[in-house]
Amino acid sequence: MERVELMEKALTADYTSLKELGWLEVYEALRGWWPKRMSIEDLAPYLDALHEEPAEKVMSTLRGMRGEQWRPSPSALYREIQGIVAKSQAEHDAKKDRFGRKKRADQGSAALLRVRMLIDSGVHTCTCNPRPTAVREDRFHVLTCSDCGGLEQGQVFNAEDDLDF
Ligand SMILES: [Zn+2]
Repeated sequence: MERVELMEKALTADYTSLKELGWLEVYEALRGWWPKRMSIEDLAPYLDALHEEPAEKVMSTLRGMRGEQWRPSPSALYREIQGIVAKSQAEHDAKKDRFGRKKRADQGSAALLRVRMLIDSGVHTCTCNPRPTAVREDRFHVLTCSDCGGLEQGQVFNAEDDLDF
């Protein structure tokens, strides 16, 4: 299944399809085995990173990580599956940028993931000149130009830059 199509199943809470594809079990394990709250939408970044892997393989890797204190991030899980040991915790902490600073909501992985999905689905990037003075922010913290409806350039740049695992 296509990456974007699969992620959309999580973002639209399509439990039936996710169950058929084996990913609901993955979601329930991620949610149930670690204390931090997780919603079905939070599965989308995992699907982004792991869509090429069979859900059963992800499950067996997860079982091996069950004793860890914190829920593995999508990139940590990806690396574990690939047999690569993560070099540092900060590196795959999705809430921190590469300098270890806390990200704003519109710079968070979920927002940037959404931006990449919108780019993939053909939404244009704002090229207004001068740069727009007003931007809108939707519930995914995606920024769009109030004049042309295009994606905000800076966030598009960050979204492309976020694919670093
Ligand atoms: Zn614009």
